Amino acid sequence: MQVGDARRIKLAVQRQGRLTQGTSSLLRAIGLKFEDYQQRLLTPCRNFPLDILFGRDDDIPEYVADGTVDLGVVGQNIIAEKDARVQELASLGFGYCSLVVAVPKDSGVQHPSELNGRRVATSYPHSSRTYFESLGVEVELVQLSGSVEVAPSLGIASAIVDITATGSTLVLNDLRQIATVLESQAVLVANPQSMEQPGVRQDVERLLTRLNSTLAASRYKYIMMNAPRAALPKITSITPGLKAPTVVPLADPEWVAVHTVILDEEFWEIIEKLREAGASQILVNPIEKLVL
Ligand code: ATP
Ligand code: MG
Repeated sequence: MQVGDARRIKLAVQRQGRLTQGTSSLLRAIGLKFEDYQQRLLTPCRNFPLDILFGRDDDIPEYVADGTVDLGVVGQNIIAEKDARVQELASLGFGYCSLVVAVPKDSGVQHPSELNGRRVATSYPHSSRTYFESLGVEVELVQLSGSVEVAPSLGIASAIVDITATGSTLVLNDLRQIATVLESQAVLVANPQSMEQPGVRQDVERLLTRLNSTLAASRYKYIMMNAPRAALPKITSITPGLKAPTVVPLADPEWVAVHTVILDEEFWEIIEKLREAGASQILVNPIEKLVL
């Protein structure tokens, strides 16, 4: 292939499962137009040189690492487990979960080191082995492909290493978490060689610009409020905004309207401080895109 040659890039996503909804919403939010997830293997985007490949999440790191596709959306937990040579381009803010060590609720075990010489059931053998080795703890791993959480009650193992998001499956099975092996969320990953092809790289960077502006937008809220002019210094110090707040005069010279952007995660703390400072009639809007 010649330098600069244009070709369509390929993106692998989970066909059906916990990442499907988040992935599909994000791809649509960045403006990609494609047919819905049907029983097809490959779907072309109508408005971008991108084809979407649907597969099992476990296969995605491999597809990306060996160049079957250029990009993939998958959990960091699966990338770590497959030890895949891929380049992480962006954290996507969904599919949050943790890989944890858990023991029966009434077990006396408080720390993973107490599992020395015991059996541990998991469908994450690689991550588990690496984890216990790093602690210098020798365990016998029992590899199961699913329903790992029932292993202790069946007498198969003294502990498990498994994925949990809310911990409810653990509680349901009378298990207690004693350690975290890794934290995970969905990420966009790339084949490192693909990223060295200028044509591909350019299109991936275009996608990344759109992705980052959509992700940034979801982290912020646009707020507008009325405030006494005298309260402006205080308000500006509470909400410096992206550069500085926009201040608009009102018909009453004593009052101004202030427009600014705040982080969603600090939303209520900031609103409380603004009210204390004298702001009122605070209007809040979501931001659709934020191109920084
Ligand atoms: P596939 O058929 O594609 O192999 P799967 O059954 O292996 O699917 P899912 O259960 O759909 O996988 O989970 C996909 C990913 O979603 C996980 O690898 C993890 O990154 C993430 N995830 C988020 N929350 C959870 C959860 N509560 N339990 C398990 N995985 C979760
Ligand atoms: Mg899977």
